[in-house]
Amino acid sequence: MQISNLVDLLNIPVMAYGLKNDFQNNLFEGSQNLLLYADKLVEIKTICWFCNKKAIHNLRVNEYDEPVYEGEQIQIGGNETYVPVCRRHYHYPLLESMLDFEEDEEPDELEVDEQEESEE
Ligand SMILES: [Zn+2]
Repeated sequence: MQISNLVDLLNIPVMAYGLKNDFQNNLFEGSQNLLLYADKLVEIKTICWFCNKKAIHNLRVNEYDEPVYEGEQIQIGGNETYVPVCRRHYHYPLLESMLDFEEDEEPDELEVDEQEESEE
């Protein structure tokens, strides 16, 4: 029986939470159902590990701080860890700066679309 049926049949509130997407940007099965059936969604925001933008992805990194984009959706007991990142830093994580990242520093290697700064 689905939780939404319990809510409707027993008329009780149910609160659930979880991560929306995995490290490959696929919805978790449970999250997909929550998105489909929830009466109310509350997003708990966090910021990117590398910048101040909103983090919308979970980047998996190995024990050498290298990004990992392949593998099982859920790994238990592995050496991988996860960091919240924005879309830009999901694709260009610049992991070498992870340990000594400073807020004002702009990464050199990153190809940034400069359209935002165009002058009229
Ligand atoms: Zn970022």
